[in-house]
Amino acid sequence: MEVYLAQPRGFCAGVVRAIEIVERALEKYGPPVYVRHEIVHNKYVVESLKAKGAVFVEDLSEIPDTAAPVVFSAHGVPKSVPEEAGRRHLLALDATCPLVTKVHREAEIHYRRGREIVLIGHAGHPEVVGTLGQLPAGAVTLIETLAAARAFVPRDALRLAYVTQTTLSVDETAEIVAALQQRFPAIVGPHKEDICYATTNRQDAVKRVAPLVDAMIVVGSPNSSNSQRLKQVAARAGCPHASLVQRARDIAWAEFAGIASLGITAGASAPEVLVEEIIEAFAERYDLSVETVSAVDEDMFFALPRSLRGHEAAE
Ligand code: SF4
Repeated sequence: MEVYLAQPRGFCAGVVRAIEIVERALEKYGPPVYVRHEIVHNKYVVESLKAKGAVFVEDLSEIPDTAAPVVFSAHGVPKSVPEEAGRRHLLALDATCPLVTKVHREAEIHYRRGREIVLIGHAGHPEVVGTLGQLPAGAVTLIETLAAARAFVPRDALRLAYVTQTTLSVDETAEIVAALQQRFPAIVGPHKEDICYATTNRQDAVKRVAPLVDAMIVVGSPNSSNSQRLKQVAARAGCPHASLVQRARDIAWAEFAGIASLGITAGASAPEVLVEEIIEAFAERYDLSVETVSAVDEDMFFALPRSLRGHEAAE
């Protein structure tokens, strides 16, 4: 079996930073360290941090009055969350990815300039909940589909702006943005789209691999938006069978019978150790030749919050 590994894949700079924030907080303050929501959408990562003393909650009300820190997940939080943490004198550490924070700031600027804002994204995803929660209710309208973009009726077509979730399909979002721009030529958007570099690069790599393979495995969790998009992008790029797999034990082996070439990628929240585990599982059943298909080199790095920087990082 020919295996084509998409490069880049797996952890992005925002995920590395978020996990490191929890780990450094555990070192500095000792357990428990509370984490609001899964720090990143990956069960393996969450379980590993739990084993070290992290306690995951969905709401601050689940945290007792304590001196222990609470970390906000990489997806970002509505403004009400740090406000509540402040009222309760909780020690808050914000692991929101800086690229999500950038979208929050863009939305605030549009709002201050009197623009109605469209957020392109998926309802219920914590990043979308966080971005909507930066502004008063009604300031931002969520648009999920091309059909919704075509039906959207703004209050004033001349004072309109859009922002997007960071982990969307690049191609689908371009279609939605084009529909909005065609209907509302005055709409204001980001200089460069809000879809982050990691999402874009992982989708580019999948587009290169998809035409070469009979099947594609995306290593990632079902609640990981960018992993779901990678699966969708693989299918759109011509891969007849794309599936999301969390661990080697979840592989539906019958689906891979008769397959001669396999693509493997991983969502931005999936650690490389899980990719290795899956390659090993295939190696136990097939003679493998493994090749990397590279779209772009990545060297992005986000600094930790000042309070958690070690001596070396602060210099
Ligand atoms: S996927 Fe993009 S926005 Fe999300 S944490 Fe990674 S770099 Fe940040």
